[in-house]
Amino acid sequence: MAAPEARISEVRARAFSVPTEGPEGDGTLTWTATTLVVVQVTAGGLTGIGYTYADASAAAVVDGVLADCLDGCDAMDVSACWLSMRRRLRNVGVAGVAATAMSAVDTALWDLKARLLDLPLGVLLGRVRDNVPIYGSGGFTNLSDDDLARQLEAWVRRDGCRWVKMKIGADPGRDPHRMRIARRAIGNAALFIDANGAFTPREALHMACAAADLDVRWFEEPVSSDDLAGLCFVRDHAPPMMDIAAGEYGFDPGYFQKMLAAGSVDVLQADATRCLGITGFLQAATLAEVHHIPLSAHCAPALHAAIGVSVPNLRHLEWFADHVRIEAMLFDGAPTPHAGAVSPPTGRPGLGLALKEADAERFAARVPA
Ligand SMILES: [Mg+2]
Repeated sequence: MAAPEARISEVRARAFSVPTEGPEGDGTLTWTATTLVVVQVTAGGLTGIGYTYADASAAAVVDGVLADCLDGCDAMDVSACWLSMRRRLRNVGVAGVAATAMSAVDTALWDLKARLLDLPLGVLLGRVRDNVPIYGSGGFTNLSDDDLARQLEAWVRRDGCRWVKMKIGADPGRDPHRMRIARRAIGNAALFIDANGAFTPREALHMACAAADLDVRWFEEPVSSDDLAGLCFVRDHAPPMMDIAAGEYGFDPGYFQKMLAAGSVDVLQADATRCLGITGFLQAATLAEVHHIPLSAHCAPALHAAIGVSVPNLRHLEWFADHVRIEAMLFDGAPTPHAGAVSPPTGRPGLGLALKEADAERFAARVPA
């Protein structure tokens, strides 16, 4: 049977700025709103959807250079579209805003192809599992002790998470106390910590030693992800049961290759909304596989649930409080956890997601020209 041909007739991006329920903070940043950029690509009478958490300027990159280079291309040829976009961004600079824009378009193209074939994305890519384990993630540095305990405990008791992650690094003197609060709240679940690059290598090692007494099993970005030697130092000296993880700022395969080749991480993280889409995420997974390193998906849980069923070396995905809330509000089909795992919605083609237009419109943000 010949594959259907579907020429791309429209590429459209919109930005939505959703206020947080209260101020949120990690080791190196605070924020009061999160911006979601949603891309729709139309071909053959169907529309695919993709998204990224990025600045609203990513929507302008989509509507400008990326829409221009995809006009009239065959939507079934996702790889050709990906190459065309990457070439088009050469002189713009791929890393950063452009990569988030291209990521959302690539995701929309995969969603569209699956819809054109009337297949769930997992079936199109080839499934290795029915659901994807999640770890609860939040524990912002500005939470009260009670709110921290409540949030982490709920992921374990209500959602069945085997692992939960909290932020550290904003006030290192309080972090051992905060980690003890968390440890008490989560019973036998494993505690993960994320410093978002707040520490020097020696500061990070000091924190790793304090955390080891609390059976912390994961230390994410103990130092800046740009400091591969620093990550190696912490990895070499950290307690043996503590995984060192990084990779969320990877915008292209070369970034992951350098991180893996340096031996900087026990678990590689990648984010399909930044690393050139589903295509780039699968490349990151393959690179990690070559280095015998497991992969963990960063944020955007609805998207990673849909991809994750098809990635052999995926350990888990990040059930990030901020994005869980936004995706439940704005996407019909956003997954809900069951026994510590999520599944893409059954019986729906593509990602299985649809934008709740009326709900989203309330958060429409201005896209810079
Ligand atoms: Mg992180």
